[in-house]
Amino acid sequence: MRPGRRSTRPRYLRRIVQLGMVALIAYIGVRHQVVGGSGGAAPLDSFCPFGAIESLPSLLGGMGFISKVGTSNLVLLGSLGIVTLALGASFCGWLCPFGAIQDLLAWIRFKTIGRAYVIPKRVHNVLKYGRWLVLGVIVYMSGRYLSLWFADYDPFRALFHFKFESWIPIALVAGTVLGGLLVERFWCLYLCPLGALTGAVGVFGFTKVRRDGEGCTDCSLCSRACPSRIQVHRLTAVADEHCTMCMECMDSCPRPGTLKVSTGADGESLRPIALGIATIALFFALIGTAYSMGWWLPGAGCGGCAEVVPSAVHAAAATIVAPDI
Ligand code: SF4
Ligand code: SF4
Repeated sequence: MRPGRRSTRPRYLRRIVQLGMVALIAYIGVRHQVVGGSGGAAPLDSFCPFGAIESLPSLLGGMGFISKVGTSNLVLLGSLGIVTLALGASFCGWLCPFGAIQDLLAWIRFKTIGRAYVIPKRVHNVLKYGRWLVLGVIVYMSGRYLSLWFADYDPFRALFHFKFESWIPIALVAGTVLGGLLVERFWCLYLCPLGALTGAVGVFGFTKVRRDGEGCTDCSLCSRACPSRIQVHRLTAVADEHCTMCMECMDSCPRPGTLKVSTGADGESLRPIALGIATIALFFALIGTAYSMGWWLPGAGCGGCAEVVPSAVHAAAATIVAPDI
């Protein structure tokens, strides 16, 4: 989302869906804090596809899922993989709650300090591999300690787990917020380990943004609108691991039909809003199917979380998110 530009129907839909996902994850986080893991409210960790990656070393070693991770994580990861293969990394652009927070920060920045800081290209070209480094460290450390090692350093978890007991989560959230305020999609571009995977799979995905060179005037508005700094106006097909299928380039192109989303140069093209609807429908249909098959089993939580909420807040929140406790 490039703030301050005209709002189109795909942009409206994307913002609504992103807000909905933030609200959903916040609800899961608050409910877990109020009810507690031992009360039956699964931990936030069970609702992240990345938990399955962190559990991989333990699973491959025949030791089962690590603590707080379950088959729900595998369902989410599998659904994410299928969506990404079919539609590109559209989860990042449309459904990821942390991506939504990054877009919200971009909007706040636009309303307060103006344009984003643009990291020099040479530095950007090095930093953009940072998320692979983060991914490698997490997998190695998760395997070494057979636990959710990254949980203590994960700003997504720190933000939505609502448990700020030490300076580490506070510092992480503050750093990520600052990064997101200054640089467009800072976390997604340079640090997100899940984004590294979806981006890599998305490159081999069937659906891509494609440019018709004959209709293009080389105005470069598409590239300037791209939050991922992709030079769309120089490409025939966007096969870039940082493309999140956000559709900002298409919304910015003044020549209708020059940019399209399709499965091939001559393939059937999707309208941007259809791509968003397809992403939402496919992702939740896959999860719903797995749930109905009994494959959705979240990891068990610990009992401590509910204890960090002051009793008055606990009682008030319980009437909203868990009236049955
Ligand atoms: S290339 Fe287009 S769809 Fe991909 S990230 Fe950039 S603006 Fe979004
Ligand atoms: S915005 Fe459209 S016309 Fe302009 S460079 Fe991009 S694809 Fe070409």
